Amino acid sequence: MQRDIFSEARGRTLGAFPEEKELQWKSPFYFIQGADPQFGLMKAWALGKWDNCDDEWEEEIRLTEQAVQAINKLNPKPKFFVLCGDLVHALPGTPWRANQTKDLKKVLEDIDKEIPLVFVSGNHDIGNVPTSEAIDEYCQTWGDDYFSFWVGGVLFLVLNSQLYVDSSKCLNLKQAQDKWLDTQLAMAKEKMCKHAIVFQHIPLFLKNVDEEDDYFNINKPVRLELMNKFTNAGIKAVFSGHYHRNAGGFYNNLDMVVSSAIGCQLGEDTHGLRIVVVTADKIIHRYYSLNKLSNEGIEKDLLDMIKQE
Ligand SMILES: [Zn+2]
Repeated sequence: MQRDIFSEARGRTLGAFPEEKELQWKSPFYFIQGADPQFGLMKAWALGKWDNCDDEWEEEIRLTEQAVQAINKLNPKPKFFVLCGDLVHALPGTPWRANQTKDLKKVLEDIDKEIPLVFVSGNHDIGNVPTSEAIDEYCQTWGDDYFSFWVGGVLFLVLNSQLYVDSSKCLNLKQAQDKWLDTQLAMAKEKMCKHAIVFQHIPLFLKNVDEEDDYFNINKPVRLELMNKFTNAGIKAVFSGHYHRNAGGFYNNLDMVVSSAIGCQLGEDTHGLRIVVVTADKIIHRYYSLNKLSNEGIEKDLLDMIKQE
């Protein structure tokens, strides 16, 4: 049976990686992280307005096509391609959302069928103040909003980070995710995974753990609670987007990685993707411009990163 590449995440896990086959460490592998294709933001940003003027997204289509083509050419193939949120710009219930979603799916359908897609919900995908209706719509369109999966002995956790920003309209859903997360983190310890890695849209912090709250990070009390939960459970890295710039830093041994966007840039970075190599001892990552990825390839870099083991 042909699988629906947009419905891999169901029942809080990912169909592409059956757990019973993936619990054991085998050998180094790599995956691709992208963030914020956010169809429609470039037009809205150029006009200096945020909402309801995101009626064109030709440039984002072109950039995401370039990303997909670059990924398809990679040899060896990545284990998966994770998109860390803000898939489209139009918020739930706004005019251009359905068309942006349709066009993004059309571009992503061209991904090599051996490279599973992993989707993470962003604030634009479920709303800045998410409701259970908006989260339902997201799950129908892209799969579960939080889930976990194993790849070769490594546990991956996908979180709905907007529930940590504002859960005032769906408190029960936040509580359900919290409970699930605690169970997952306890399991991570117990099953002695090689590494545990988190994907979420909103960064815990942008540069250091003590920075002030702003639009682009998680507020301090929640941030510290999560950081401590993560480090206690042995989470090694958190990959995020949302900032439309590359950033990040360490907290104890936890690497907080903030990747710039496939789509609209808000800083000096290039449209790009992050390559993440997982070895027995390390998680090594590097951000590449789409142009470099499409034109030069990264075979040699991959080998070098694996050798850092
Ligand atoms: Zn965002």
